[in-house]
Amino acid sequence: MKKCVYEIITEKVIEQLEKGVVPWRKPWINGGAVNWKTQKPYRGINTFLLEAGEYATFKQIQEAGGKVKKGEKSHIVVFWKWLEKEDEQSGEIEKIPYLRYYRVFEINSQVEGLTSKRKETVFDHDPIEKAEEIYKGYINGPDYTFYPGKAVYYPTLDKINCPPLKDFPKVEEYYSTLFHEMIHSTGHKSRLVRPGVITENVAFGDEVYSKEELVAEMGAAMLCGVAGIDNSTIENSASYIHSWIRNLKDDTRLVVQAAAQAQKAADYILGKEASDEE
Ligand SMILES: [Zn+2]
Repeated sequence: MKKCVYEIITEKVIEQLEKGVVPWRKPWINGGAVNWKTQKPYRGINTFLLEAGEYATFKQIQEAGGKVKKGEKSHIVVFWKWLEKEDEQSGEIEKIPYLRYYRVFEINSQVEGLTSKRKETVFDHDPIEKAEEIYKGYINGPDYTFYPGKAVYYPTLDKINCPPLKDFPKVEEYYSTLFHEMIHSTGHKSRLVRPGVITENVAFGDEVYSKEELVAEMGAAMLCGVAGIDNSTIENSASYIHSWIRNLKDDTRLVVQAAAQAQKAADYILGKEASDEE
């Protein structure tokens, strides 16, 4: 029965990917580093580059009538672009990810004349029972903390931090975020030993990194499916995955491999024997 759910999820993820919708995932609201203007949290590597705060570019600050304090140093926000390069011998087009960045300042500590747009909203949710069961049923899992602002799994500490339930406008997004980090934790050297988790110094944008993100997102979507959580989270997952894999047609192989690993990871958390299907 569960395999059915897995298959449905895999298909939906691929379907969404093919649609190519890319709104950035924004599942929780309090704490962390956000764009001052939009109040959207930064994701990916930027959550490691920026401390909690509200950030704006020099131009945005000027336009809003603010002024960067004397001597303040900017922070860097990065994003990926793909460069197409033709191989001289084979004539094949190779896609190379390269980093772009822009500079920002934190408006509360580094800027004069601008005010915080932050609202500490608290959402009053009832936990979803079936999803809680999955979380609590993960035998020999990692340690957990629930501080605002950052969803992350630290392989060396074998520890997850997930923003608390009250920070998520949608209860489903809390579980899909928690499940995402739980799936990462199954890759730990004491569990399923996945390269994306055990390899040290994996560069952001490497295939091994992208693949681990795929595994985490697809595995989270599968666990959400098992918990009977609304499929809208799958759409968000798909957008997130798509932001890692800009060209699905080149990377279908990656999606298929990741789906198999995601299924193993979900099985591990659910305490089920690995399926015999490879
Ligand atoms: Zn992740």
